[in-house]
Amino acid sequence: MSIQKSRAVCIHCGNLKPHFLSECRKCGFIPLSLSAKARSLILSMDYERQSNEYGNEPSEVSLRDLEDMGRRIESGIGFEYDDEAILDAERHLQSIEALTAKDVFRATFLWLLPVIVVFVVTVVYLFLK
Ligand SMILES: [Zn+2]
Repeated sequence: MSIQKSRAVCIHCGNLKPHFLSECRKCGFIPLSLSAKARSLILSMDYERQSNEYGNEPSEVSLRDLEDMGRRIESGIGFEYDDEAILDAERHLQSIEALTAKDVFRATFLWLLPVIVVFVVTVVYLFLK
């Protein structure tokens, strides 16, 4: 059953979907803004709640919790987001994006470094000759 693979809830209609950033098969909603991504992350199993000073604890959200959240959204009751949780999720998403960009830059630099060294050595050698 496809429901076993569901790990997130559509923040628009409450339908279950496989990943918090994926398109909702029911209403077609895709979270694009940071705020929508953050709220989608909170309504998913990928969200790690910071519960104490020792850092992140694995998410305790179960499929049953997701179904419950989904039903609340579907029925119009809605899900009450914690403002702190939204800010926390937004920071989390931004840190992932920043880290990825930095890693890509570092990998590109390390890959280009030997080429730059060979180029500089060659130029210096030809210049001094
Ligand atoms: Zn939806």
